[in-house]
Amino acid sequence: MAKINENYLKLQAGYLFPEIGRRVTEFVNEHPDKKVIKMGIGDVTQPLPPSIVKAFHEGVEEMAKAETFKGYGPEQGYAFLREAIAKNAYQDNGIDIPAGDIFISDGSKCDTGNIQEIFGNSNKIAICDPVYPVYADTTVMSGKTGEFDAGYYNGIIYMPCTKENGFTPDLPVETPDLIFLCFPNNPTGTVATKDELKKWVDFATKNKSIILYDAAYEAFITEEDIPHSIYEIEGAKKVAIEFRSFSKTAGFTGTRCAYTVVPEELMAYDGEGRAHSVKRLWNRRQSTKFNGVSYPVQKAAAAVYSEEGKKEVAEIVAYYLENARIMKASLADAGYEVFGGINAPYIWVKTKNHMSSWDFFDKVLNEANVVGTPGSGFGPAGEGYFRFSAFADRDSTIEAMERIKNLK
Ligand SMILES: *Cc1c(COP(=O)(O)O)cnc(C)c1O
Repeated sequence: MAKINENYLKLQAGYLFPEIGRRVTEFVNEHPDKKVIKMGIGDVTQPLPPSIVKAFHEGVEEMAKAETFKGYGPEQGYAFLREAIAKNAYQDNGIDIPAGDIFISDGSKCDTGNIQEIFGNSNKIAICDPVYPVYADTTVMSGKTGEFDAGYYNGIIYMPCTKENGFTPDLPVETPDLIFLCFPNNPTGTVATKDELKKWVDFATKNKSIILYDAAYEAFITEEDIPHSIYEIEGAKKVAIEFRSFSKTAGFTGTRCAYTVVPEELMAYDGEGRAHSVKRLWNRRQSTKFNGVSYPVQKAAAAVYSEEGKKEVAEIVAYYLENARIMKASLADAGYEVFGGINAPYIWVKTKNHMSSWDFFDKVLNEANVVGTPGSGFGPAGEGYFRFSAFADRDSTIEAMERIKNLK
Protein backbone atom coordinates (compact mmCIF):
# COMPACT_ATOMS: atom_id res chain seq x y z
CA MET A 1 0.00 0.00 0.00
CA ALA A 2 1.37 3.38 -0.97
CA LYS A 3 1.59 5.78 1.96
CA ILE A 4 1.49 9.53 1.67
CA ASN A 5 3.68 12.06 3.42
CA GLU A 6 1.16 12.87 6.14
CA ASN A 7 2.72 16.25 6.74
CA TYR A 8 0.79 17.34 3.65
CA LEU A 9 -2.46 16.64 5.50
CA LYS A 10 -1.54 19.34 8.01
CA LEU A 11 -1.42 22.00 5.28
CA GLN A 12 -4.29 24.44 5.18
CA ALA A 13 -5.92 24.45 1.74
CA GLY A 14 -4.34 27.09 -0.50
CA TYR A 15 -6.93 29.59 0.60
CA LEU A 16 -5.77 33.12 -0.10
CA PHE A 17 -5.29 33.45 -3.86
CA PRO A 18 -8.00 30.92 -4.86
CA GLU A 19 -10.48 32.78 -2.65
CA ILE A 20 -9.48 36.12 -4.19
CA GLY A 21 -9.89 34.55 -7.65
CA ARG A 22 -13.34 33.19 -6.73
CA ARG A 23 -14.61 36.55 -5.48
CA VAL A 24 -13.18 38.42 -8.50
CA THR A 25 -14.69 35.95 -10.99
CA GLU A 26 -18.08 36.21 -9.29
CA PHE A 27 -17.92 40.02 -9.43
CA VAL A 28 -16.88 40.08 -13.09
CA ASN A 29 -19.69 37.66 -14.04
CA GLU A 30 -22.25 39.86 -12.33
CA HIS A 31 -20.79 43.13 -13.67
CA PRO A 32 -19.34 42.38 -17.11
CA ASP A 33 -19.27 46.11 -17.95
CA LYS A 34 -16.89 47.06 -15.11
CA LYS A 35 -13.14 47.36 -15.72
CA VAL A 36 -11.43 45.61 -12.82
CA ILE A 37 -7.86 46.73 -11.99
CA LYS A 38 -5.68 44.05 -10.43
CA MET A 39 -3.17 45.05 -7.78
CA GLY A 40 -3.31 41.74 -5.95
CA ILE A 41 -0.67 39.20 -6.78
CA GLY A 42 3.04 39.96 -6.79
CA ASP A 43 3.74 39.45 -10.47
CA VAL A 44 5.46 41.93 -12.76
CA THR A 45 3.95 43.42 -15.94
CA GLN A 46 6.81 45.15 -17.80
CA PRO A 47 8.48 42.99 -20.51
CA LEU A 48 12.11 41.82 -20.49
CA PRO A 49 14.30 44.76 -21.54
CA PRO A 50 16.04 44.73 -24.98
CA SER A 51 19.62 43.88 -23.96
CA ILE A 52 18.38 40.92 -21.94
CA VAL A 53 16.18 39.68 -24.78
CA LYS A 54 19.19 40.00 -27.12
CA ALA A 55 21.38 37.82 -24.87
CA PHE A 56 18.50 35.35 -24.50
CA HIS A 57 18.26 35.08 -28.34
CA GLU A 58 22.03 34.65 -28.64
CA GLY A 59 21.89 31.81 -26.16
CA VAL A 60 19.22 30.08 -28.22
CA GLU A 61 21.29 30.58 -31.42
CA GLU A 62 24.29 28.93 -29.75
CA MET A 63 22.10 25.95 -28.88
CA ALA A 64 21.10 25.71 -32.56
CA LYS A 65 24.66 25.07 -33.89
CA ALA A 66 26.77 21.96 -33.33
CA GLU A 67 29.91 24.04 -32.62
CA THR A 68 28.32 26.00 -29.80
CA PHE A 69 25.63 23.59 -28.62
CA LYS A 70 25.57 22.91 -24.86
CA GLY A 71 24.23 19.87 -23.08
CA TYR A 72 24.02 19.57 -19.31
CA GLY A 73 25.65 22.53 -17.62
CA PRO A 74 27.15 22.66 -14.12
CA GLU A 75 24.46 22.02 -11.47
CA GLN A 76 25.71 25.08 -9.57
CA GLY A 77 25.34 27.33 -12.63
CA TYR A 78 27.74 28.52 -15.32
CA ALA A 79 30.90 30.26 -14.10
CA PHE A 80 30.18 33.31 -16.28
CA LEU A 81 26.97 34.00 -14.34
CA ARG A 82 28.31 33.12 -10.89
CA GLU A 83 31.28 35.43 -11.48
CA ALA A 84 29.10 38.25 -12.80
CA ILE A 85 26.89 38.00 -9.69
CA ALA A 86 29.84 37.83 -7.28
CA LYS A 87 31.42 40.91 -8.84
CA ASN A 88 28.36 43.08 -9.50
CA ALA A 89 25.99 42.16 -6.70
CA TYR A 90 28.62 41.79 -3.97
CA GLN A 91 32.29 42.63 -4.54
CA ASP A 92 31.62 45.98 -6.26
CA ASN A 93 29.59 46.90 -3.18
CA GLY A 94 32.40 45.98 -0.82
CA ILE A 95 31.00 42.56 0.16
CA ASP A 96 33.47 39.74 -0.08
CA ILE A 97 31.46 36.87 -1.60
CA PRO A 98 33.36 34.59 -4.02
CA ALA A 99 31.70 33.10 -7.13
CA GLY A 100 32.11 29.64 -5.62
CA ASP A 101 29.62 30.42 -2.85
CA ILE A 102 26.85 31.27 -5.35
CA PHE A 103 24.37 28.63 -6.54
CA ILE A 104 22.21 29.46 -9.57
CA SER A 105 18.65 28.13 -9.53
CA ASP A 106 15.27 28.41 -11.19
CA GLY A 107 13.77 30.47 -8.39
CA SER A 108 13.94 31.68 -4.81
CA LYS A 109 10.59 30.06 -4.11
CA CYS A 110 12.18 26.69 -4.87
CA ASP A 111 15.38 27.49 -2.95
CA THR A 112 13.67 28.75 0.21
CA GLY A 113 11.61 25.55 0.17
CA ASN A 114 14.32 23.10 -0.85
CA ILE A 115 16.84 24.38 1.69
CA GLN A 116 14.68 22.83 4.44
CA GLU A 117 15.79 19.41 3.27
CA ILE A 118 19.40 19.75 4.45
CA PHE A 119 18.31 20.71 7.98
CA GLY A 120 16.99 18.07 10.39
CA ASN A 121 13.42 17.98 11.59
CA SER A 122 14.36 18.74 15.18
CA ASN A 123 15.12 22.33 14.12
CA LYS A 124 12.85 25.01 15.54
CA ILE A 125 11.91 27.48 12.84
CA ALA A 126 11.04 31.15 13.38
CA ILE A 127 9.02 33.06 10.80
CA CYS A 128 7.44 36.48 10.69
CA ASP A 129 3.71 37.08 10.90
CA PRO A 130 2.52 38.27 8.35
CA VAL A 131 4.78 36.39 5.93
CA TYR A 132 5.38 35.09 2.38
CA PRO A 133 3.41 31.80 2.69
CA VAL A 134 6.15 29.60 1.19
CA TYR A 135 8.31 29.56 4.34
CA ALA A 136 5.57 28.20 6.59
CA ASP A 137 4.14 25.72 4.09
CA THR A 138 7.52 24.18 3.21
CA THR A 139 8.35 23.95 6.91
CA VAL A 140 5.16 21.93 7.35
CA MET A 141 5.88 19.72 4.31
CA SER A 142 9.35 18.92 5.62
CA GLY A 143 7.87 17.63 8.88
CA LYS A 144 9.16 20.27 11.27
CA THR A 145 5.74 21.23 12.71
CA GLY A 146 2.67 19.90 14.42
CA GLU A 147 -0.95 20.48 13.43
CA PHE A 148 -2.60 23.76 12.41
CA ASP A 149 -4.49 25.37 15.25
CA ALA A 150 -6.31 28.72 15.37
CA GLY A 151 -4.24 30.39 12.66
CA TYR A 152 -0.87 28.88 13.60
CA TYR A 153 1.10 25.67 13.05
CA ASN A 154 2.26 24.13 16.30
CA GLY A 155 6.02 24.06 16.56
CA ILE A 156 6.72 27.20 14.51
CA ILE A 157 7.89 30.28 16.39
CA TYR A 158 5.82 33.17 15.02
CA MET A 159 7.24 36.66 15.25
CA PRO A 160 4.56 39.35 14.90
CA CYS A 161 5.49 42.31 12.68
CA THR A 162 3.21 45.17 13.57
CA LYS A 163 3.01 48.94 13.43
CA GLU A 164 4.31 48.96 17.02
CA ASN A 165 7.63 47.31 16.15
CA GLY A 166 7.93 49.04 12.77
CA PHE A 167 7.17 45.72 11.02
CA THR A 168 10.55 44.30 12.05
CA PRO A 169 10.26 41.38 14.46
CA ASP A 170 11.48 41.40 18.05
CA LEU A 171 13.90 38.66 19.11
CA PRO A 172 11.76 35.67 20.10
CA VAL A 173 11.65 34.41 23.67
CA GLU A 174 12.03 30.80 22.57
CA THR A 175 15.36 30.17 20.77
CA PRO A 176 14.99 29.18 17.09
CA ASP A 177 17.53 27.14 15.10
CA LEU A 178 16.52 28.54 11.71
CA ILE A 179 15.17 32.07 11.21
CA PHE A 180 13.43 33.24 8.04
CA LEU A 181 13.81 36.97 7.44
CA CYS A 182 12.75 38.89 4.32
CA PHE A 183 13.79 42.50 3.68
CA PRO A 184 12.55 44.53 1.86
CA ASN A 185 9.50 42.68 3.06
CA ASN A 186 6.67 41.06 1.21
CA PRO A 187 3.86 41.78 2.19
CA THR A 188 4.55 44.89 4.32
CA GLY A 189 7.00 46.66 1.98
CA THR A 190 9.13 47.69 4.95
CA VAL A 191 12.90 47.36 5.51
CA ALA A 192 15.35 46.61 8.30
CA THR A 193 18.22 48.93 9.21
CA LYS A 194 21.82 47.79 9.71
CA ASP A 195 21.35 47.92 13.48
CA GLU A 196 18.29 45.71 13.28
CA LEU A 197 20.05 43.16 11.10
CA LYS A 198 23.08 43.25 13.38
CA LYS A 199 20.78 42.33 16.27
CA TRP A 200 19.76 39.20 14.32
CA VAL A 201 23.29 38.27 13.29
CA ASP A 202 24.48 38.58 16.90
CA PHE A 203 21.50 36.53 18.11
CA ALA A 204 22.19 33.79 15.52
CA THR A 205 25.90 33.79 16.39
CA LYS A 206 25.18 33.41 20.09
CA ASN A 207 22.72 30.54 19.51
CA LYS A 208 24.50 28.84 16.57
CA SER A 209 21.31 29.44 14.57
CA ILE A 210 21.12 30.12 10.84
CA ILE A 211 19.33 33.07 9.24
CA LEU A 212 17.59 32.32 5.92
CA TYR A 213 17.61 35.79 4.40
CA ASP A 214 15.27 36.46 1.47
CA ALA A 215 16.46 39.55 -0.42
CA ALA A 216 14.20 39.16 -3.49
CA TYR A 217 13.36 42.90 -3.41
CA GLU A 218 16.88 44.19 -2.73
CA ALA A 219 16.95 46.15 -6.03
CA PHE A 220 14.03 48.29 -4.85
CA ILE A 221 15.96 49.84 -1.95
CA THR A 222 16.22 53.59 -2.50
CA GLU A 223 17.18 54.90 0.93
CA GLU A 224 20.84 55.21 1.89
CA ASP A 225 22.10 53.07 4.77
CA ILE A 226 19.51 50.35 4.28
CA PRO A 227 21.48 47.10 3.86
CA HIS A 228 21.03 45.35 0.50
CA SER A 229 22.60 42.15 1.77
CA ILE A 230 22.78 40.41 5.15
CA TYR A 231 26.52 40.06 4.46
CA GLU A 232 26.93 43.80 5.00
CA ILE A 233 26.74 42.85 8.69
CA GLU A 234 29.99 41.67 10.26
CA GLY A 235 29.96 37.97 11.06
CA ALA A 236 26.95 37.20 8.83
CA LYS A 237 28.87 34.79 6.60
CA LYS A 238 29.09 32.41 9.53
CA VAL A 239 25.34 32.46 10.22
CA ALA A 240 23.36 33.33 7.08
CA ILE A 241 22.21 32.06 3.72
CA GLU A 242 20.97 34.72 1.28
CA PHE A 243 18.36 34.21 -1.45
CA ARG A 244 18.09 36.58 -4.39
CA SER A 245 16.07 36.42 -7.58
CA PHE A 246 15.94 38.03 -11.02
CA SER A 247 12.12 37.70 -10.90
CA LYS A 248 11.04 41.07 -9.55
CA THR A 249 14.24 42.93 -10.44
CA ALA A 250 14.56 42.08 -14.12
CA GLY A 251 11.14 40.68 -15.01
CA PHE A 252 12.13 36.99 -14.77
CA THR A 253 8.96 35.69 -13.10
CA GLY A 254 8.16 33.74 -16.26
CA THR A 255 11.78 33.20 -17.38
CA ARG A 256 12.99 31.70 -14.05
CA CYS A 257 16.42 32.48 -12.63
CA ALA A 258 17.58 33.14 -9.09
CA TYR A 259 20.58 32.44 -6.86
CA THR A 260 21.41 31.45 -3.33
CA VAL A 261 24.58 32.34 -1.46
CA VAL A 262 25.86 29.67 0.91
CA PRO A 263 29.16 30.92 2.36
CA GLU A 264 32.07 28.54 2.82
CA GLU A 265 32.24 29.67 6.49
CA LEU A 266 28.68 28.59 7.33
CA MET A 267 28.38 25.58 9.66
CA ALA A 268 25.52 23.49 11.06
CA TYR A 269 25.81 20.74 13.65
CA ASP A 270 25.13 17.01 13.96
CA GLY A 271 23.67 15.24 16.99
CA GLU A 272 27.10 15.12 18.66
CA GLY A 273 27.59 18.85 18.16
CA ARG A 274 30.22 18.40 15.42
CA ALA A 275 30.29 21.19 12.80
CA HIS A 276 29.54 20.45 9.14
CA SER A 277 29.79 22.68 6.09
CA VAL A 278 26.31 23.74 4.98
CA LYS A 279 27.69 24.62 1.54
CA ARG A 280 28.85 21.02 1.08
CA LEU A 281 25.40 19.71 1.94
CA TRP A 282 23.64 22.16 -0.35
CA ASN A 283 26.04 21.34 -3.16
CA ARG A 284 25.33 17.65 -2.61
CA ARG A 285 21.59 18.26 -2.65
CA GLN A 286 21.68 20.38 -5.80
CA SER A 287 24.07 18.05 -7.66
CA THR A 288 21.78 15.12 -6.92
CA LYS A 289 18.35 16.63 -7.49
CA PHE A 290 18.92 19.54 -9.87
CA ASN A 291 20.44 19.75 -13.33
CA GLY A 292 20.90 23.46 -13.63
CA VAL A 293 19.07 26.37 -15.25
CA SER A 294 18.74 26.46 -19.04
CA TYR A 295 21.78 27.96 -20.81
CA PRO A 296 19.90 30.75 -22.67
CA VAL A 297 18.25 31.81 -19.41
CA GLN A 298 21.64 32.06 -17.69
CA LYS A 299 22.94 34.09 -20.65
CA ALA A 300 19.93 36.40 -20.30
CA ALA A 301 20.52 36.72 -16.53
CA ALA A 302 24.20 37.61 -17.07
CA ALA A 303 23.07 40.46 -19.38
CA VAL A 304 21.41 42.05 -16.32
CA TYR A 305 24.99 43.06 -15.37
CA SER A 306 26.00 44.55 -18.73
CA GLU A 307 26.16 48.37 -18.89
CA GLU A 308 22.99 48.45 -20.99
CA GLY A 309 21.26 45.83 -18.86
CA LYS A 310 21.96 47.68 -15.62
CA LYS A 311 20.43 50.85 -17.07
CA GLU A 312 17.35 49.09 -18.40
CA VAL A 313 16.71 47.17 -15.20
CA ALA A 314 17.11 50.35 -13.14
CA GLU A 315 14.45 51.97 -15.35
CA ILE A 316 11.99 49.14 -14.74
CA VAL A 317 12.56 49.26 -10.99
CA ALA A 318 12.13 53.06 -11.06
CA TYR A 319 8.86 52.64 -12.99
CA TYR A 320 7.38 50.37 -10.30
CA LEU A 321 8.70 52.59 -7.53
CA GLU A 322 7.04 55.63 -9.12
CA ASN A 323 3.77 53.64 -9.11
CA ALA A 324 4.39 52.95 -5.42
CA ARG A 325 5.03 56.64 -4.75
CA ILE A 326 1.78 57.62 -6.47
CA MET A 327 -0.15 54.97 -4.56
CA LYS A 328 1.31 55.88 -1.23
CA ALA A 329 0.55 59.59 -1.72
CA SER A 330 -3.01 58.97 -2.96
CA LEU A 331 -3.86 56.55 -0.18
CA ALA A 332 -2.45 58.90 2.46
CA ASP A 333 -4.46 61.71 0.86
CA ALA A 334 -7.55 59.56 1.16
CA GLY A 335 -6.89 59.33 4.89
CA TYR A 336 -5.36 55.88 5.13
CA GLU A 337 -2.39 54.98 7.26
CA VAL A 338 0.18 53.63 4.76
CA PHE A 339 3.46 51.73 5.14
CA GLY A 340 6.14 50.48 2.76
CA GLY A 341 6.37 51.56 -0.87
CA ILE A 342 9.65 53.47 -0.54
CA ASN A 343 12.11 50.56 -0.76
CA ALA A 344 9.69 47.93 -2.07
CA PRO A 345 6.93 47.50 -4.65
CA TYR A 346 4.29 46.89 -1.97
CA ILE A 347 2.05 49.26 -0.03
CA TRP A 348 0.69 48.01 3.28
CA VAL A 349 -2.46 49.88 4.26
CA LYS A 350 -4.30 49.95 7.55
CA THR A 351 -8.05 49.71 6.96
CA LYS A 352 -10.23 52.44 8.45
CA ASN A 353 -12.43 51.96 11.53
CA HIS A 354 -11.01 48.51 12.28
CA MET A 355 -12.61 47.03 9.17
CA SER A 356 -11.45 43.44 8.64
CA SER A 357 -9.07 42.69 5.75
CA TRP A 358 -11.70 40.68 3.86
CA ASP A 359 -14.46 43.27 4.38
CA PHE A 360 -12.11 45.88 2.96
CA PHE A 361 -11.32 43.54 0.06
CA ASP A 362 -15.04 43.28 -0.77
CA LYS A 363 -15.58 47.02 -0.46
CA VAL A 364 -12.63 47.88 -2.72
CA LEU A 365 -13.68 45.25 -5.26
CA ASN A 366 -17.40 46.13 -5.30
CA GLU A 367 -17.19 49.90 -5.06
CA ALA A 368 -13.82 50.74 -6.71
CA ASN A 369 -13.44 47.60 -8.86
CA VAL A 370 -9.84 47.23 -7.66
CA VAL A 371 -8.30 43.95 -6.47
CA GLY A 372 -5.76 43.90 -3.66
CA THR A 373 -4.72 41.26 -1.13
CA PRO A 374 -6.24 40.96 2.37
CA GLY A 375 -3.47 41.26 4.95
CA SER A 376 -4.95 38.48 7.08
CA GLY A 377 -4.12 36.05 4.25
CA PHE A 378 -0.42 36.45 5.14
CA GLY A 379 -0.92 35.61 8.81
CA PRO A 380 -3.10 36.55 11.80
CA ALA A 381 -1.05 39.70 12.55
CA GLY A 382 -1.97 40.97 9.06
CA GLU A 383 -5.64 41.28 10.07
CA GLY A 384 -6.89 44.82 9.55
CA TYR A 385 -4.31 45.47 6.83
CA PHE A 386 -4.38 45.29 3.05
CA ARG A 387 -1.60 44.91 0.45
CA PHE A 388 -1.51 46.77 -2.85
CA SER A 389 1.22 45.81 -5.32
CA ALA A 390 2.89 48.47 -7.49
CA PHE A 391 3.37 46.15 -10.47
CA ALA A 392 0.36 47.36 -12.51
CA ASP A 393 0.92 49.73 -15.44
CA ARG A 394 0.95 53.47 -14.76
CA ASP A 395 -2.48 54.38 -16.17
CA SER A 396 -4.23 51.60 -14.25
CA THR A 397 -2.37 52.60 -11.09
CA ILE A 398 -3.53 56.21 -11.35
CA GLU A 399 -7.10 55.19 -12.16
CA ALA A 400 -7.25 52.70 -9.30
CA MET A 401 -6.11 55.35 -6.84
CA GLU A 402 -8.70 57.85 -8.12
CA ARG A 403 -11.42 55.28 -7.57
CA ILE A 404 -10.23 54.48 -4.06
CA LYS A 405 -10.11 58.18 -3.18
CA ASN A 406 -13.78 58.41 -4.16
CA LEU A 407 -14.83 55.52 -1.93
CA LYS A 408 -17.55 56.46 0.54
C1 LIG B 1 8.54 36.91 -5.61
C2 LIG B 1 9.26 36.47 -4.40
C3 LIG B 1 10.37 35.62 -4.50
C4 LIG B 1 10.91 35.20 -5.85
O1 LIG B 1 10.51 33.94 -6.20
P1 LIG B 1 11.02 33.30 -7.55
O2 LIG B 1 10.75 31.86 -7.35
O3 LIG B 1 12.48 33.60 -7.68
O4 LIG B 1 10.23 33.90 -8.67
C5 LIG B 1 11.03 35.25 -3.35
N1 LIG B 1 10.63 35.69 -2.14
C6 LIG B 1 9.59 36.52 -2.01
C7 LIG B 1 9.23 37.01 -0.66
C8 LIG B 1 8.86 36.93 -3.13
O5 LIG B 1 7.81 37.74 -2.98
